Amino acid sequence: MSKLNTVFNIDKVLNTNTDLSINEAGLLNIRYSGTTASQGSDALMTGIVTLDGEYLLLDLLISYLADSECSRCLKVSSKQQEISINEKLYIHNENEYDIDFNDENIDIYPIISEKVIDNISLVTLCSDECLGLCIICGKEQNSHQCKHEEKNLKESPFSSLSELDL
Ligand SMILES: [Zn+2]
Ligand SMILES: [Zn+2]
Repeated sequence: MSKLNTVFNIDKVLNTNTDLSINEAGLLNIRYSGTTASQGSDALMTGIVTLDGEYLLLDLLISYLADSECSRCLKVSSKQQEISINEKLYIHNENEYDIDFNDENIDIYPIISEKVIDNISLVTLCSDECLGLCIICGKEQNSHQCKHEEKNLKESPFSSLSELDL
């Protein structure tokens, strides 16, 4: 598997007003706040680039698998995501993505990565009821709940070791 191609020659779009169809598959591997988008499976990008007077119109649909760590228990779960991009890029003005239309090829990666990151939530939970990790021994509390006795902890500094399988 290779990286998703995001570089396109838009010569024909600009000079002969021919629409450019986009149909690409590849890895994005964008990581942000405990979530990785399209890390081991290809993202699919389809769409069209058209010229409309003073600007290029990017109309894209990207689907990918996002692996998110639970913010409480750190368990990773995967979810299919789909984002649409509708971006107007003025040809004669500067744009926020530093895309230069005097270049032979344009790289739309900055647009894609911004939209993918926008779509990632800062807090992801494996379930609303997730019990997270034990504050004493760090074990995940959804499948097993720790019962540490406060008294023991005070008596021996090593009592928490009894929870571990040594
Ligand atoms: Zn969780
Ligand atoms: Zn514990």
